[in-house]
Amino acid sequence: MVLSARQQHCLKGIGIRRWFERSSAPTGAEEILTPTAQEILPPEAAILSAPTMEPARPKPVPAMSLDSWDDITRSIHQCEACDLASNCTQKVPGVGNQQADLMIIGEGPGHDEDIKGEPFVGRSGQLLDKMLQAIGISRSQVFITNIVKCRPPNNRDPHRDEVQACSVFLRAQIKQLTPKVILSVGRVSAHSLLNSTSPVGKLIREMHQLPESDIPVKVTYHPAYLLRNPPAKSIAWQDMKTLHRILDLDP
Ligand code: SF4
Repeated sequence: MVLSARQQHCLKGIGIRRWFERSSAPTGAEEILTPTAQEILPPEAAILSAPTMEPARPKPVPAMSLDSWDDITRSIHQCEACDLASNCTQKVPGVGNQQADLMIIGEGPGHDEDIKGEPFVGRSGQLLDKMLQAIGISRSQVFITNIVKCRPPNNRDPHRDEVQACSVFLRAQIKQLTPKVILSVGRVSAHSLLNSTSPVGKLIREMHQLPESDIPVKVTYHPAYLLRNPPAKSIAWQDMKTLHRILDLDP
């Protein structure tokens, strides 16, 4: 992938130095060999992979129409299907281009998202924006949402019954969008979408397919994790290059 000056500038902003193969490095170029996930994965990454969800306690989801974007958004705002409804400031249905090829699915709203009503804001959102910019995509070109639409108290992981209750909305959003590819951000997102308990460090190494569909899913680390563990940005950059290829973004 040939990077433009702007993309190289974005990479520098993210904190990723560009690497070159030894054989193709220009004279004087900074050389960093591409690390493998195994080599670069910090021990803390294992924490991200621990299955922590509680046993399922299904709750009834009220009958509602989910046949259009407006229906979905309205239904989310009216929903009280799980306990998260009573603890959040507001619902965070998702934002972006409703014809996007790329759908980004995170875990759940955090403090800033809960206040603003938009997913991936604050420092994590800024890093995500820069990662997208590095492959020539703006936030307005993608659709961004979360597994659950209400903030779990104290940023805990959503419980399995909460994920299950909210999945009706995510499924409806995926059906409306029919994205070309899904970027699954973080452990809760990956485990929920892929019905897996494998470590994120393992899931990140290969492409997946959304169960019962032909939509490819790329797993990547959550920007909040990347902010805490800058070396993992090299792996995330590989993920962005994979997206670039799937989305066929080269002119
Ligand atoms: Fe409804 Fe989802 Fe919020 Fe639970 S998290 S109340 S299912 S919108």
